[in-house]
This record gives sequence, structure tokens and C-alpha cells, in this order.
Amino acid sequence: TAADLRATLRRIDGRGYGAYKDCAGAYAFEGHTLFIDHVQGDPFAAPSRVRVRIPASRAGFPAHCSGTPERAVAFRDFLARSVSGALRRHGGRRRGSGKSGEIAIARPGQEVLERSSVVLTAEGDIEVRILVGLPARGRTVLGREAEAIFFEDIPALVTAALLYGSIDADLLDRHLAVAEDAAALREALTPLGLVAFVADGAVLPRRSGVDERPLEGAVPFESPPSLRVEIDLPNAGRVTGMGVPEGITLIVGGGFHGKSTLLRSIERGVYTHIPGDGREYVAAAPSTVKIRAEDGRRVEGVDISPFIAGLPDGRDTRAFSTENASGSTSQAANIMEALEMGAGVLLIDEDTAATNMMIRDRRMQDLVADDMEPITPFIDRAQALYGDLGVSTVLVIGGSGDYFDIADTVVCMAAYRPEDATERAAAIAGRYASGRTAPTEDGFGAFRHRIPEAASIDASKGRREAKVAADGVRGIRFGVHEIDLSAVPQVVDPAQTTAIAHAILRARRLMDGRRSLREVVEGVMAEVERDGPDALTPHPSGGLAVFRPYELAAAINRLRTLRVGQ
Ligand code: ADP
Ligand code: MG
Repeated sequence: TAADLRATLRRIDGRGYGAYKDCAGAYAFEGHTLFIDHVQGDPFAAPSRVRVRIPASRAGFPAHCSGTPERAVAFRDFLARSVSGALRRHGGRRRGSGKSGEIAIARPGQEVLERSSVVLTAEGDIEVRILVGLPARGRTVLGREAEAIFFEDIPALVTAALLYGSIDADLLDRHLAVAEDAAALREALTPLGLVAFVADGAVLPRRSGVDERPLEGAVPFESPPSLRVEIDLPNAGRVTGMGVPEGITLIVGGGFHGKSTLLRSIERGVYTHIPGDGREYVAAAPSTVKIRAEDGRRVEGVDISPFIAGLPDGRDTRAFSTENASGSTSQAANIMEALEMGAGVLLIDEDTAATNMMIRDRRMQDLVADDMEPITPFIDRAQALYGDLGVSTVLVIGGSGDYFDIADTVVCMAAYRPEDATERAAAIAGRYASGRTAPTEDGFGAFRHRIPEAASIDASKGRREAKVAADGVRGIRFGVHEIDLSAVPQVVDPAQTTAIAHAILRARRLMDGRRSLREVVEGVMAEVERDGPDALTPHPSGGLAVFRPYELAAAINRLRTLRVGQ
């Protein structure tokens, strides 16, 4: 019971820091159970892992909060924010040296995600995973301070942030309603023949490149009447907005008129956003993958032949490997890897694409003969991608009207307002022929699935078994290796990065020399689907969030030691 913990803390007060190990265990408090799972070895090490479990009867949340899977995820996300907010208001109380006395929870961003920081037990009890810096002076135990954390700070946190009576029920209801609507909106897309939807009134731009909160004073989104669709949502009722149809969609317009901002909101539309974000009713098909050029990346055995064939050095591009990809080969590899994982919609922005991968105009076709150009630009493959594989593309192109020939829909951004320019673009294409040689009608072709080799995935570090860690959303430290995710923009939360890092280790265990990369990744996803992110770590960890198969595959593909067979 709690009295045992108090006795232990009084006994070890003033002793060496290692004596804190005696605190590990489970303790029944009045109104909650405390689990001290892992005790840090010294005051400057990673803080101790602690769980707090509150019985459903005490927490008092109505059953509808977790009535559906979507609601349960949003409910847990809300509680994580509630704890995070309470800690920011009352926390930060230092009780000794190092990170002594700090209580922390993985800090949520703009997305509603399934997080491991708050879980519901089978009985509906709420379990919150926090980190606690056990207090020290120098290297000695500050038992009285630790007592204050466990007997005052944590009970106060429970009372302030985790009881139905103390949270704002309207905010909670709104959180659940928005999340449920966003899921419904995403599901409504395919039956309507859409790949994305941007609601009227949505606020798309962000405050800055490092601040994902909505830009204040932004021009709200307003759909062009000819692309306007209405969708009925369970809570918000009827919403109107721009539907982006399947096929090939161009986003054109002058520089600085909001093209990239629109595309980026679609890229993020695979996730649900919190109330007040501005993108609550912006949705994209779940299989939407942003593609960009990423020169310098490694590529392992990828069939890039639909885009690149006949290299001057005679290398085979049906199983292409390089330690240092060029802009165009990296972009081709990124596309083929996304297709290998089943991507249904590709997003490409001219700002982050390789020009020679995107366009090749008549004059260049004349000057450089086809047999001297290994690259088949995207413009000559996009229609086969849709026709043969059913994969749609949304492209930002401000600099080449050649694409009018293949576009199904053209959206022109003018002062942050979209216009439907499809007919005007078609008329212009009729008036001024591009003169390009038509692409050969050889279809997109089949691609091979690669078989990853388990032995090539090694996270050991010296004598230590496996050591993985996230570096924000930009990368993963995987043993002695670094995985660069800075060109994988749909990893949006550091907790996703951490989860992906652990998921690579799970994936390794499924690699048996027969399973393809896609099968391996889908195997891991099925475990996460069944057991939540807890499936990924040997001990409960509060620092994980659910991710998509595309981003797990992207991380494996960027591991510089990866080897594949065919
Ligand atoms: P483009 O890709 O067309 O060059 P961007 O999408 O990069 O343009 O947008 C240019 C700038 O305008 C960015 O700083 C962006 O934050 C801002 N912006 C985009 N959309 C809006 C909007 N609806 N209201 C106000 N500012 C916006
Ligand atoms: Mg741009």
C-alpha cells in the first residue's frame, strides 16, 4: 500500500541514489494505483517510468466517451492533453538537482493520435504513463521531496486533469465530435470518387515552419462552386468544401499564392486535427503519400525502371541500389517504394521535386535524343499510374503548362482562393500544342516486391542489445546508425518516430527470407492494430503513437545497412 512507499522513502532518505531502486512496485493509494515500473540509475539519466491507474468508477466519465474505437482514441488523446496542460500550469516544480522532481508526459501536437501515454484497461480504468525525475541533492536521495511528488503532486494531478468533474465537459465533447467527424469524412471520400476534401472556412497556413498552430488572420478556404461537394457528418451536420477528384489534379497559380500550403494541408489530411486547428474538416485518403526528391539518400534494390532506364554506365535499374541517390533517382525510388506499400494517392510539389523528373519539353526532346536520356519524366507516367494502377496524383506545378495535356482537374490559386481552371487549361492546351513527342503506350508495368534480410538490420550498440531512440520527427538513432526522416513529412509527432524506431525491431523478427517488405510491415501494423502501440515495446512506454505503414517502410528503406533479395 501507499504506507509502504512512504516507509521506504523515509528509510532511504539521504542514502546513495541507487537506493531508489527499492521503490519499484505497485502501491494502492486512495483513489488510484501507482506503479513505479522502472527506477532511473542516477539523477541525470532518463527519468523513471511511472503509471497511475484511476478506476473508471472514480474517474466518472460517461460511457459514450469510449463508445466507438474512434471516440476511445480521441478520449485518450484528450486526457493526454489534459495531463500535459495541467503539468504545464502547475508542474515544473524542481525538487533538487538534475531533472529532479519533474513530472512529464509525451507532449501532443496538433494531431489526434492513438497514444500510449493514456490507455484504458479492459475494465475501463484510465492508465496514465508519466516520467518522474526522482529528486536528489548531488547523488543522494531526497526522500521527503520524493514523498511530496507521490503523495501530493501526483494525486493533485489526478484530481485536476483526470476526473470528469474537473475537466471541461464541453471541450471533451467537442474533441470527440471533431475526431468522429474527421474519421467519417475520410471514409466518405472514396464513395464520392474523391481523394481529398478541404472544407469551406478551413484555415490552412501554419504560423511558421516550426509552429504548426494556425496562422492568425489567414484567409479562410473557399471552394470554387464547380468543385464544391456537400458531405453529411455525424456531429457537425452538412459541411461544404472542395472535393479533389481521383485522377490527375494540378494546383497552379502565381508564386506565393498558397499552392504549397494547400498541398501540405492535404498531406496532413491523413490525420485528424484537434478542435481549433483550422484543418478539422480537411481530409485525405488514408493511402496518400507525399513524394519528394531526396538527394543523398541510400536506395536498396528498388525497381525504378518505369522512370529511369538505360543509365550510361549500363547499370540495371530494375533492382537499383546506390549509397548516394541523385535528385531524380531518389524521387523515382520514393515513388516506387510508396507504390510497393500500396499508396493510392501521390502528392508532389514542384518546390521539393527534381525538375528533370517532372518535365521534359519539346525543345529538350529535340536537343537530347530519347536514347540518350535515361529519365522518363512523371508527365509521361502519371496517366499510366492512374489507368493501370488506379493511383491518383495531386501536383503543384507553377512552371509548366505541358501538364495541361494530362490533367483531369486544374485548380488555380489566386490570393489564397482556389478557382476551377480545368476548362481554361484545356482550351489553352488546344490552342498551343506542347509539341511534345507522345509517350510510348507501354503501360506502367509490374514491379517486384523486395524481400528484406533480417541480418542487415542491427540496432546493437557495442555490448548493449538493441538501442533505438527518436530525434524529434527528423530521424531515428538505430544502434550506431542514423535514419534520416527529414524528407518523410508525414511523420508528424515525435511519439510516432519513437514508435517507428521500435517497430523496426518488431519488423526484423518477421523477416524470414520469404516475406516481402510489405508483408513484414503489414504484420507489424496488424500487431499494433490488435494490441495498440504497447505491442512494440517489452515494457509499457508512454512515449509512443500510432503511425502509418508507409512511414515504417520509409524508415526501413532509409536504413543504410538494409539489404534485400528479390
Ligand atoms: P506558393 O506555393 O504558391 O508559392 P505558399 O503556399 O508557400 O505559396 O504560400 C505563401 C505564403 O502565404 C506562406 O507564407 C503561407 O503561410 C501564406 N499563406 C498561404 N495560404 C494563406 C492563407 N489562406 N491566408 C494567409 N496566408 C496564407
Ligand atoms: Mg510553393
